[in-house]
Amino acid sequence: MKKKVIIANWKMNHDFYETTSYLRNLLKIIFENKINQKKIIIAPSFPFLHISNQILQGTTLSIAAQNIHQMDNGSYTGEVSAPMLRSIGIKKVILGHSERRKYFTETNEILIKKIKIALKYGFNIIFCVGETEVDREKKEHFITVKNQLEKTIFYFSLEEINSFIIAYEPIWAIGTGKTATPEIAQHMHQYIRTLFLNKYGKRRANDLSILYGGSINDMNAKNLFLQKDIDGGLVGNYSLNIKKFLKIIQS
Ligand code: PGA
Repeated sequence: MKKKVIIANWKMNHDFYETTSYLRNLLKIIFENKINQKKIIIAPSFPFLHISNQILQGTTLSIAAQNIHQMDNGSYTGEVSAPMLRSIGIKKVILGHSERRKYFTETNEILIKKIKIALKYGFNIIFCVGETEVDREKKEHFITVKNQLEKTIFYFSLEEINSFIIAYEPIWAIGTGKTATPEIAQHMHQYIRTLFLNKYGKRRANDLSILYGGSINDMNAKNLFLQKDIDGGLVGNYSLNIKKFLKIIQS
């Protein structure tokens, strides 16, 4: 069964106090109001992963890192490795986010290395794909997303693919307030599922959680999540505010 998943991608936001008080409040509200907990994953910044993980211990919510380095260890000043994160109990990581591809020149080759190391250390991977506005204007959005998958995760085996969640995030929708319509998003999600069907078979395709990301807010979430092939969301801006994020969780 594919799972419904909501992920808060906080990016480079929230300091120590904001992170810990948000998480404590979120838990309190969820338990007090018996909010139906879909699978909720929070991705805070590196310095706060440890404390965040401790706060969520014993709950069904979990923590993801926003990145990892592609090497086990070594002279890479300022970087954080997969085994370091495992040593503090982190088991999930977001890879392939368009901001990392754009600002940190993460190519498909680097992403393959990152996927390999994440799998080596037993991480679940939230892998992002999505086209630019120009791709869409040129009607090349399907081919762009297909290429992103074929040049990265489609090199991996069916067994390895079980560790993935896909997030479709059209770049023109990220942080812009321009959300894909439910129809546009559903169309792409269905296409992605078909690519998985052709590559890995029916069972994997049906079980795969494909999340939508890009200007999800408390108003548009419901209609997006009603779509057959949209299994939840990767939420940036609207996850920073606890009330707004709760509304999205309840959508
Ligand atoms: P946004 O970000 O919700 O602010 O558009 C989504 C993301 O980049 O994951």
